[in-house]
Amino acid sequence: MIQGKVAIVTGSTSGIGLAVARQLAGAGAGVVLNGFGDAAQIEQLRAALSAEFDVPVRYSGADMSQPGQITEMVAETERAFGAVDILVNNAGIQHVAAVDEFPMAKWEQILAINLSSNFYAIRAALPGMKARGWGRIVNIASAHGLVASPFKSAYVAAKHGVLGLTKTVALEVAETPITCNAICPGYVKTPLVDGQIRDQAKAHDMSEERVVREVILASQPNKRFVETQAIGDIVLFLCSPAAEAITGIALPVEGGWTAR
Ligand code: NAD
Repeated sequence: MIQGKVAIVTGSTSGIGLAVARQLAGAGAGVVLNGFGDAAQIEQLRAALSAEFDVPVRYSGADMSQPGQITEMVAETERAFGAVDILVNNAGIQHVAAVDEFPMAKWEQILAINLSSNFYAIRAALPGMKARGWGRIVNIASAHGLVASPFKSAYVAAKHGVLGLTKTVALEVAETPITCNAICPGYVKTPLVDGQIRDQAKAHDMSEERVVREVILASQPNKRFVETQAIGDIVLFLCSPAAEAITGIALPVEGGWTAR
């Protein structure tokens, strides 16, 4: 089902997105990598992925806060590969501050990258999916799409918004062979979370080990980080025939966090 398909994974130069891109390539999909980073390292990554799995891999440097660049990334992929069959909206950033001190520019940036980019990418990719009669859209939301935590107003608002968008798109295309779902991970050990661990350790004058145990994983009942590989496996499942009737869901992958 995935062999020969074309996938865009936004924010795939690091963390969850990179794991998802690897697994899609491993399953035989052509992949478009996207995200920021050192140009030489990204090129190395692109070439290595293509060689390891013998699939075409391209890179788009589109900035997910820029609607025009998102639309162009989708159009460019369709020109180069002939299709966008699988769209994984994964790019995201975090900023932690009290709501009355939250920098306005950060709010706008988080809403743009974590929420609006999903809308622009879906809007651009959907007509081609409809025309070809198949599509899989997977939005990487968060446990913070289901529940809140203090000091993360923009992130929580954006991720709740992603779930609303996911359900709406799912309903609009429900009669077609296109599905749209969201995955809601708890804490996954990636550079995004490493940054939070460092900041919290500094703010509370605690060791990073103590921050992981008492702050970061406090809300995650299984007390383990989610593996990036697990998120990739779930994306593959959502792209498989078994998931053909799964649409509009927000799938928690968070060690029991939202079961409380
Ligand atoms: P990460 O920091 O490791 O990777 C983020 C990726 O997004 C990078 O490739 C980065 O270059 C890219 N990116 C950032 N801003 C961008 C922009 N403007 N345009 C294009 N690319 C951009 O983060 P991660 O932990 O892998 O997070 C990936 C997604 O998973 C995010 O949406 C995040 O909210 C979500 N998530 C992460 C966790 C976690 O614990 N790590 C938990 C739940 C949800």
